[in-house]
Amino acid sequence: MKVLVINCGSSSLKYQLIDMTDESVLAKGLVERIGIEGSKITHKANGKKAIIEQPMENHKIALELVVKALLDEEHGAIKSMDEIDAVGHRVVHGGEKFATSVVITDEVIKTMEDCSDLAPLHNPPNIIGIKACKEIMPNTPMTGSFDTAFHQTMSKEAYIYPLPYELYEKYGIRRYGFHGTSHKYVAQRAGAILNKNIEDLKIITCHLGNGASLAAVKNGKCVDTSMGLTPLEGLAMGTRCGDIDPAIIPFLMEKEGLDISGVNNLINKKSGVLGISGISSDFRDIENAANEGNDRAKLALDKFANRVKKYIGAYAAIMGGVDAIVFTAGLGENSISMREQICEGLDFLGVKVDSDKNNVRGEEVVVSTDDAKVKVLVVPTNEELMIARDTKALV
Ligand code: AMP
Repeated sequence: MKVLVINCGSSSLKYQLIDMTDESVLAKGLVERIGIEGSKITHKANGKKAIIEQPMENHKIALELVVKALLDEEHGAIKSMDEIDAVGHRVVHGGEKFATSVVITDEVIKTMEDCSDLAPLHNPPNIIGIKACKEIMPNTPMTGSFDTAFHQTMSKEAYIYPLPYELYEKYGIRRYGFHGTSHKYVAQRAGAILNKNIEDLKIITCHLGNGASLAAVKNGKCVDTSMGLTPLEGLAMGTRCGDIDPAIIPFLMEKEGLDISGVNNLINKKSGVLGISGISSDFRDIENAANEGNDRAKLALDKFANRVKKYIGAYAAIMGGVDAIVFTAGLGENSISMREQICEGLDFLGVKVDSDKNNVRGEEVVVSTDDAKVKVLVVPTNEELMIARDTKALV
């Protein structure tokens, strides 16, 4: 069975064609600048790379060119479109309506549209991608996998905000959480690597990339996560502030004369480690600057680690202990020093990192000492594979 996984943004589209017999990636690529001058596809298959530069007015045209690339004699991966048995779409927000991946029907699309209010920048392009795909492959089954779905197992006390309850009823204001597909994948891998049933484990998964979130996964189910109604809450991120005193917002609006979009821009695009360091949102740049003695770069890294550590403590408390901590995503997989800094001082919990074992980037490995009570793992995330697995199971 071959599954095409699609992640559609407003002007971009990522795809992977996965052979589910051995879970190998047959082809993958990225379409950029859809609807903007300079559209291009970077396509890889069979060890070959092709750059396709052609105007792509909309997502349908982009998808048609992706299919053409997949069928190409030179750099393609399949001979006929019929070889694509199913398509799995990534969808950001499933609200309270979707607690698992689902087969897409017209009714499902309508429900996804109802969730767009909660993710106005993300859900509409996801849905445009689904509709375009349905036009091109009307007879191919399609599924939707939601970033929020894995977190739907949270208890009400975990997801409710201490605001007037009517606002939850009226607008659905509550914690939803994101990166769910990634948290689910790495938690499952941790169980497999440790040779333990995930149902018997208390795991804290740390998805640390440009966007960053933690999840507390008890007995295979998410019981809490750090992102909220939107991906802004929780950790300090590349450019997002994460948790701050909400009173700062009206204060800044008044003092700095900011309107809603101005303050939104400040907390989403100018804050986080970029805001503190004043250097970059990219952790590599910040780590380099800190190593050269830049105090604000060091402060940004310290703040980042401090907050991850606080959430680890909180989640250990909520779950009544922790058996494994998993690091994933760009920073979690690659930053040896950040993993070390986060775990430093957590020996009271039973966390002990072996610095030789931790000296790895982007590899699936246990980095705690053999005698550590809490296992610490690095697990490269693979959201596409998780979506493809869900698609296979559904179709
Ligand atoms: P992601 O959003 O998962 O793609 O992660 C992107 C983040 O990972 C960026 O801030 C990168 O700086 C960070 N990252 C990637 N590679 C490294 C590395 N070798 N060392 C430190 N940070 C890294």
